[in-house]
Amino acid sequence: MKTPVPDYLQHVLSACNNNQSGALANYIPELAQADPNKLALALSTIDGTIYSTGDDTLEFTIQSMSKPFAYALALKTLGLNAVLQKVGVEPSGEAFNQISLGQDQLPKNPMINSGAITTHALLPHKKTVSRAEHLRRFLSELAGRELQFDENVYASEVKTAFRNMSIGYMLRTVGVMDEDPEQIVNGYIQQCSIKVTVKDLAAMTSVLANGGIQPKTGKRLLDRAIVRQVLSVMMTCGMYDAAGDWLTTVGIPAKSGVAGGIMGVLPGQVGIAVFSPKLDSHGNSVRGVEIFERLSSDMGLHLMEGTPSAQTILQSRYSIGKKQNVIVYELRGVLQFTESEMLLRFLQDEPQAKNKIILDLTNLTLIHDVGARMLFEGVKRLKEDGHQVIVVDSEGVLSEEQVKGNKRLVVNDTLEHYLAQFEEKK
Ligand code: GLU
Repeated sequence: MKTPVPDYLQHVLSACNNNQSGALANYIPELAQADPNKLALALSTIDGTIYSTGDDTLEFTIQSMSKPFAYALALKTLGLNAVLQKVGVEPSGEAFNQISLGQDQLPKNPMINSGAITTHALLPHKKTVSRAEHLRRFLSELAGRELQFDENVYASEVKTAFRNMSIGYMLRTVGVMDEDPEQIVNGYIQQCSIKVTVKDLAAMTSVLANGGIQPKTGKRLLDRAIVRQVLSVMMTCGMYDAAGDWLTTVGIPAKSGVAGGIMGVLPGQVGIAVFSPKLDSHGNSVRGVEIFERLSSDMGLHLMEGTPSAQTILQSRYSIGKKQNVIVYELRGVLQFTESEMLLRFLQDEPQAKNKIILDLTNLTLIHDVGARMLFEGVKRLKEDGHQVIVVDSEGVLSEEQVKGNKRLVVNDTLEHYLAQFEEKK
């Protein structure tokens, strides 16, 4: 059997191919040379599989899609508080290159140019390694290959960067930035000129979808708290003055770039990247928006749809042993707050008789910290009621940190093996 996912993606691409509306960005002369017919789509899963179709090996400049990653790198380098003192997190409802500041005299958010230029100044740098080079290395690590700058697009934008230069001077004037505005704006433009394919973007977004861990290598590249901050800002500010429209129709945290790319991240599920150079009046790729709308509605990817996952937490409950007083709970799925609440309600209904209760975690795929805390609190209360309780975790779903202080309650044997002792007593 061949999975139908690539066929489906190909189908979505073909369906959008006829849409000829929009216009190439022409304020950066080199971008006006792009082939308007190019079209590509890639989707990454949180285990690192990448499906792609169309012009998926074509490189284009990352442009504003670099902004969330630059923000992530600034947060990683300086911490949240230091960054918040320089750039806000409020949607601006303005165009990406608006020459404006919030009432507090700070750029409103890191997704519009004033915030992104400020963020660029916060990137790590040494005498020999520029801020843009630091970011290029970071993006290469996320993409899993060495990315390069596009010197032509860079030179072309620098020549016509009057508006961004004004923003730079404005930031210097109000004291948000101490550095030489020309140097910072040029560095920001270089950051925007890094070349990517949709497959690179899909790999990069898979790290964000996976809570900061590179799914292929298992290496943590970003703290979970940073990923949450970045995705929140993408959700509210990523699509500029079309942010509300995007949230209601697509509902996926996303960022567009003026070369024609759009990338989106659905936390815990998928990363998506599209490329098509013609833009709408907000500066977002026309066919890119259409593809996202289709994917979101066809695949139920809207963030606000949610999933009633709690209903699946209890796979089965049965009793064994001579006196049928060994009660086994086999759990499955993900243990977060809602699932833990449901599990605790089941356990609350356990008869007062002094039973031995076995909680089998083998088929759980993930236990969040809140899930582990609630689980062990439930175990404690069952024991206070006089039950004997054992947690079977043969696959090691609980982390060492989560087990801390409860080690004696956890058995790493398989459920079958552990239960054999009771079968013999029958
Ligand atoms: N380099 C572009 C600029 O600053 C990025 C804009 C965008 O991609 O939206 O004007």
